[in-house]
Order: sequence, then structure tokens, then C-alpha cells
Amino acid sequence: MNVSDTVHYVFLVAAACFVLGLHLMNHPRTARRGNTLSAGAMAVAIAATVWLVADEGTISRTGWLVLASGGLVGAALGLYAAREVKMTAMPQLVSLFNAVGGGAAALIAVNDLLEIENAGARVSLPGALDIVIGAVTFSGSLVAAGKLQGLVSGAPVVFPGARLLNVLLPASFVAGSVWLVLAPDSRTALYGLTAVALLFGVTLVLPIGGADMPVVIALLNAFTGSAVAMAGFVLNETALIVAGMLVSSSGGILTKLMADAMNRSIAGIMVGGFGTGDDAPAAAAGSGTPAQVRSVSADDVAIQLAYASKVVLVPGYGLAAAQAQHELGDLAKLLSDHGIEVSYAVHPVAGRMPGHMNVLLAEANVPYTQLKEMDEINPEFPQADVALVIGANDVTNPIARRPGNAISGMPILDVDKARSVVVIKRSMGHGYAGIDNELYTDPKTGMFFTDAKKGLGELKAAVGEFVG
Ligand code: NDP
Repeated sequence: MNVSDTVHYVFLVAAACFVLGLHLMNHPRTARRGNTLSAGAMAVAIAATVWLVADEGTISRTGWLVLASGGLVGAALGLYAAREVKMTAMPQLVSLFNAVGGGAAALIAVNDLLEIENAGARVSLPGALDIVIGAVTFSGSLVAAGKLQGLVSGAPVVFPGARLLNVLLPASFVAGSVWLVLAPDSRTALYGLTAVALLFGVTLVLPIGGADMPVVIALLNAFTGSAVAMAGFVLNETALIVAGMLVSSSGGILTKLMADAMNRSIAGIMVGGFGTGDDAPAAAAGSGTPAQVRSVSADDVAIQLAYASKVVLVPGYGLAAAQAQHELGDLAKLLSDHGIEVSYAVHPVAGRMPGHMNVLLAEANVPYTQLKEMDEINPEFPQADVALVIGANDVTNPIARRPGNAISGMPILDVDKARSVVVIKRSMGHGYAGIDNELYTDPKTGMFFTDAKKGLGELKAAVGEFVG
């Protein structure tokens, strides 16, 4: 067997490992293994590619130098960013990774079309698709990351004629792609198509509210996968096609799941939605607090917890913002050690990205057996003595059960069915959807107004005094 055949078998095994890796990511217990398996398979595929290229001897010494320095700088930046990024800034990082993936895929097609004499007509159709999807993903992901980082306004940016432009630009893709397929050596078609696609990425994402960005990012992630798969067709590389399609289909499924969990349509989000970020006006606790809200102290809550038989913890975005997962894990352990049954209720869109709560709680070494998804925990709320809500708002709002408001129809955690409820948050401020939460004015709810990290620390100390 020659080197080329061997390398293609390696690609096949790597592709199988990607599929297996994705499957292992289905459960928190096996997710880390799945990630390692997929990353290992990618490393082996890259090493095999280097072997193949070295064997063919087509790259000059300067080419190797460029490849090695690019690989080293890229890997170092990726490693640094992934290790240092805060959990609340993860969506921006994913968006930047999407931009790099889409941009790289588009560059492959641009390069092959520039060398069309060598590549032949085979590259023109997948090449055109690669450029369109890759360039849209590149510029769209940069705008999305800018919105989430606060560099670009999180509010929907709409200018006169924006909607018309968003219809005309895709129409010009079709025209440009047909032109490129008919005349693959036309530089005007190549550069024109690239410029239009880059512009469309910007005009597509600018009108979308910052708070809808996680769904947009999942969609752009699916686009990145499609662009990479097209690059695989351009290069005639099976591994790229398989890896790209896996990213594309899983990103597409994730987008659909997120939109469903918010009871919204993907089209509705793309046209512009509710919520413009985390800057909804917050009424301060204290003097501005409405009379019917019952304020409680750490000691009040500690007594309730210490004498409970069953406690359900409900983490939300505020827990992530405060980075209070370890304090919550410590409090839960103290309660469990005291013989109290403790569960965590995890809503699919609690936080600001899919799986946000699972990742945070795994970081705090919370036992997986205590993590319960919405469908599993909802029937248990009526038996819970205390539901302790930490920085979660919209995902607990009973108003979702009624029509005519921003979250109508969104499946929620049935926190209001617990025997008593305690909410930790800093003020009466709104969540992502920007609406009042009826749970806070329910007579059985006590509001513990404080930062999640500080409040959980105080609770742990106070509960410790009661349970000795
Ligand atoms: P919300 O955004 O509804 O509420 C978070 C609450 O946390 C706020 O009301 C805020 O109140 C409180 N908070 C913020 N910082 C702190 C802090 N340091 N300490 C204590 N509390 C704090 O979060 P949920 O998790 O309930 O809901 C998520 C929302 O995000 C949903 O509407 C969902 O649709 C949306 N979303 C989620 C996505 C996902 O994939 N997970 C994707 C896109 C959107 P206060 O300021 O008073 O402290």
C-alpha cells in the first residue's frame, strides 16, 4: 500500500472517530471522552496530511516554513483563548472560531479558482458555494462576536432599505455563482461574488438583537460546516467533507433545538427578535421594590433549607455571570451530607448558550445523578420543600403559560409548584426577554437580593451553623 492509500484509510478511521466522538457528547459523563476522541482524530488526520504532502514533495522550503509558523501561531492562540475564556464569554469565542473556519474554507476555493488552469472545471460549482457560505460566515460571525463583546451595538441595527438589500444580495449570489460556473477563470466573477457574500454576512447579522446571538451563532456554526464540506469537494478530500457535514448537521440540529426551547422560529429570529442584550433596566432592590415582594435574609433561607427534605436548585444566567458554580456545589454538598435530597433543575436555554449550565456545574464537580432536565424535574416540583432559584429569571416565569407576551409558549421549569421558593438575584431587574416575572410576587416566594456568589457563600455559612 502506498502512502496516499494509507493516508486515506487514516482519514476514514478519523471520520469514524468524529462520529463516535459526537455520539459520546450526548451525555455529560462521556462528553469529555468524546471531545478527546474527536480532537485526537483531528490531530492524527492533520499529521497524516503532513505526511502525504511531504511524500508528494510539492511544497517548497518557504511553504513548509509558512505552514509551520501558521500552525504554531494558530494552535497557541486557540489554546490560550480556550483556556482563558470566561464561561460567559464562550459564545464570542465560538463565533470567532466560526469566522476563522468559514474564512479558511472560502480562501481554499478562492485559491483553487485563482489556479483554475490546474484545477479544472471540477472546482467551479462547489467553489462558488464554498465562497458564498464561507464569506457570509466569516463576516457574519465577526459582527456577531462584536455584538456579544459590546464592540458593535447589541441593539438591532436597521437602516433604510436593509430588508430590500437582504433580498437583493442573495439574488446576486445566484447570478454570480452561475457566472463563475460558466466562466471559472473570470476574476470579476470571483472577486464580485466574494465581496457580495462578505457584505451579506454583515447586513444579515446587524439587524439581529444581541441577545438572539447564541441562536445565530449556532446557525453560523452550521454554515461553517457546510463551507468546510464544500472545501472538501474542491480539494477532493473525504475527511473534510465528512467533518464539515457533521458540523453542519449538528449545528443545524442545535439551532432548531434552541429555537424550539425558546418557542421561536429560526426565521423569526433571523428577521429580528426580542431582547437586545443584558442591559434591560433594573429596578433597584429596597426603596423601589414593589410592596408585594417579600424580601428574605440569609438566615431565613438557611432555616428553610436546613429543615427541608427535598431541595431543587435552579441555576440561570446570573449564576454564570457571578461565576458562583463552586459556591452552589459546596452548598448542595452540605445539604446532601445532611441527608437532604438535592437536585439541580437544568432548563435547555438557561444561561446564554446551549449546555451552559451543564458545563458550569460539571466544572464544580456536581454529581451527574443530581442533574435533571426539565421534563424529568418538572413533575418533582410539587414534592420539593424549597426551590432555590439562583440568577434564573425567564426560564422560571409562569407568564409563559399564557398567550400574548414575549415568552408565551416557552416551556418553563415549574418552580411555582414547589412548596416554597427562594430567588437569589440582585434586584427586580429583568432577564433576557425584558419582562416582569410573576414568580417574584407569588406569596410563597422569598427574594434574597444579593450577588449570587456572595449570597451562596453567606447561605453556606448560615446553613453550616444550623446543621452543625
Ligand atoms: P435570564 O436572562 O432570564 O435572567 C438572568 C437573571 O440573572 C437576571 O434577571 C439578573 O437579575 C440575574 N443576575 C445577573 N447577574 C447576577 C449576579 N451576579 N448575581 C445574581 N443574579 C444575577 O436568565 P435565564 O437563565 O433564566 O434565561 C436565559 C434566557 O436567555 C432565556 O430567555 C433564553 O431564552 C435566553 N437565551 C438562552 C440561550 C441559550 O442557549 N441558553 C440562547 C439565547 C437566548 P438581576 O440583574 O436583578 O441580578
